[in-house]
Amino acid sequence: MELMKKTAAELSAMLERKEVSAVELAKAAFARTAEVDGKVGAYLTVAEDPALAAAEAVDRRRAAGETLPPLAGVPVAVKDNICTEGTLTTCASKMLYNFVPPYNATVIEKLTENGAVVTGKVNMDEFAMGSSCENSAMKVTHNPHGLDRVPGGSSGGSAAVVAAGEVPLSLGSDTGGSIRQPASFCGVVGLKPTYGAVSRYGLIAFASSLDQIGPFARTVEDAAMLMDAIVGHDPLHDSTSAKAPFEGSLRANLNADMKGVRIGLPKEYFGAGISDEVRASVLAAADTYKALGAEVFEISLPLVEYALPIYYILSSAEASSNLARFDGVKYGYRAEGCEELLDIYVKSRSQGFGQEVQRRIMLGTYVLSSGYYDAYYKKARAAQRKIRAEFAAAFETCDVILTPVAPTTAYEIGSRTTNPLEMYAGDICTVSINIAGLPAMVQPCGFDGNRLPIGMQLIGPRFGEQKLMNAGLAYEQASGLKNIIAAL
Ligand code: GLN
Repeated sequence: MELMKKTAAELSAMLERKEVSAVELAKAAFARTAEVDGKVGAYLTVAEDPALAAAEAVDRRRAAGETLPPLAGVPVAVKDNICTEGTLTTCASKMLYNFVPPYNATVIEKLTENGAVVTGKVNMDEFAMGSSCENSAMKVTHNPHGLDRVPGGSSGGSAAVVAAGEVPLSLGSDTGGSIRQPASFCGVVGLKPTYGAVSRYGLIAFASSLDQIGPFARTVEDAAMLMDAIVGHDPLHDSTSAKAPFEGSLRANLNADMKGVRIGLPKEYFGAGISDEVRASVLAAADTYKALGAEVFEISLPLVEYALPIYYILSSAEASSNLARFDGVKYGYRAEGCEELLDIYVKSRSQGFGQEVQRRIMLGTYVLSSGYYDAYYKKARAAQRKIRAEFAAAFETCDVILTPVAPTTAYEIGSRTTNPLEMYAGDICTVSINIAGLPAMVQPCGFDGNRLPIGMQLIGPRFGEQKLMNAGLAYEQASGLKNIIAAL
């Protein structure tokens, strides 16, 4: 455990000084998993053999005198909707219960080039649809800070595995908050990058125009380190990936000087519906920024009111089309005893997809149907343009925007599963960021009365990740709220 209490940056330095080997680190990670994952339930697949082989390769290269990238030898867990060649990738769905991808996602190729050691695949809401990880068809993941609580979702496994000290880093994906909300619930750092900063190739698509892969870590510096490894243009495989998202390394350019940095607090994000503890904690963080020399002032983003319907229309529309490929023929689950082709489609999809996924497919098909397209889908796209414009205008006056992440802290497992609308309402603070294609980072800013973490969200302009990380680092240094590992 001692090794796994360290940050990725510390482990990277130890590896470089040869104080520890990559194999020792991988073994320490698996030992911690053996110790606590029975309680947490983060992993779906522990990839011990490929991880140890990758670690041995890193150790050999280092022994031969090669200078290796900072991530070389550092264990990283991966959300189970990111394709890993030769390792099961289920999307936490019965539909893909047996899917072993024949190729790696671009981010996995990049991790490999950087010598990172992929430890395995972690739990999520089925096809990344959900906010609590309870839609997984595979297992329940528990919040390491309160085992009766949800870890958040959809990247609940990615957040829990880092908060539990099983690995220092993980990858998740965020379509409407799925990195940020679980990061908030589990007391870790999570970054949803600007749309296009990270290649989506090999990320099993939910809503392609909103999906982004991003890092989880326990410090801002560690998140920057992982982000540095995965960003970049992917001309062959993702035409929406940006050419040169950032100048140089986010980690190397970290600068915690907050003097004169303009921080906007949108009043709509602090109103009714946000719990008092969450509001107070984020406002206290705003005071910290003032004390650090930032200019903090109120702004207004009135269109946030429409963010949830816009998000659920657009994301479900795209999901209904993306998930058409799962037909029981090409890969994954196929129903038994089918008489004809239509039977295969209907039965395989009815039995292979869980309830929430079927709900989204129906909703998405409905809003795209010829009779309702104009009334819903087209209107939502028009409203999306307005939200984008509203954020662009806000960034004329501020460098970053500070908000809560979710209305509450982590709630009890099973307490919100009967009412999907109640679950959707929890996404109010996060979905507008994906609609606008912006970057946003979450990090811990306190605890509630039950010692459950509270997170805050820093939102930046397009490709403003450096600004977010600088502000995040400044807060982390001032508050000391970093590298928080749950007592298990
Ligand atoms: N909770 C949101 C949803 O259920 C966001 C999911 C995500 O970001 N993948 O759609």
